[in-house]
Amino acid sequence: MGHIALQHVTRRFENGYEALSDVSVEFAEGSMTFLTGHSGAGKSTFLKLLLRADRPTRGKVLVNDVDIAKLPEQRLPRYRQNLGVVFQDHHLLDHRTVFENVAIPLRVMGLREREVGRRVRASLTQVELLGKERLFPRHLSTGEQQRVGIARAVVTRPKILLADEPTGNLDPDLSIHIMNLFARFNQVGTTVLVASHDVNLIESMGLRMLHLEHGQVVDDRAAIRSVGEITGTPADDPVDQSAEHGGG
Ligand code: ADP
Repeated sequence: MGHIALQHVTRRFENGYEALSDVSVEFAEGSMTFLTGHSGAGKSTFLKLLLRADRPTRGKVLVNDVDIAKLPEQRLPRYRQNLGVVFQDHHLLDHRTVFENVAIPLRVMGLREREVGRRVRASLTQVELLGKERLFPRHLSTGEQQRVGIARAVVTRPKILLADEPTGNLDPDLSIHIMNLFARFNQVGTTVLVASHDVNLIESMGLRMLHLEHGQVVDDRAAIRSVGEITGTPADDPVDQSAEHGGG
């Protein structure tokens, strides 16, 4: 239930500018892909179309064979329950505890308190933050705040996980840690799409990489390894990654 296909998608703004031009690309269910490209290349626009925060001017955005541009407004909440979203700036609520921040999507779904507690703790365990439920975001480090954002994104067990520059504010070690978390969710079947301009880090991971330039896909590099725990270090410590992959 996590198949995505863009078919001849163009997004042209009122001023005539095309953020995406005739983009056709497919993501298999359970795949993990990096979306890369310069600032302004169209990465955020791409993700916004999948969130149905925006619609294409031409072409189709198919999620599990449904053209989501045509979804009526009243079906959007249900559609979005299948999506987990992580932003660069984690968008946590300052005056709510870690627990309450992660619980937000579950409260929207109207789950009972017991189930909320169970799921929030499971998510916090996955991002290694169990024990910090009662703290407020300001008590956490930047990396921990980002992990709370990830826990909130996955707490509904979405089929698709989208991230927009999730490591933009983090140092290289923390960035690897965050990318590893995404890989772990991917290993249990979630389709993962991460927009990032951190090319060194992305290349070290050896996963599929879709490169956008001025709204067009100029490179679609297949994975050179299967998704697994990323043991590598980013480019400031140039260990030869290929030696560790054993050919996938
Ligand atoms: P990225 O995420 O790769 O940095 P974006 O998808 O945010 O790129 O933006 C792609 C391009 O579209 C940018 O040049 C941006 O200025 C332009 N753009 C975004 N929104 C609008 C808009 N509403 N009207 C006109 N141009 C826009």
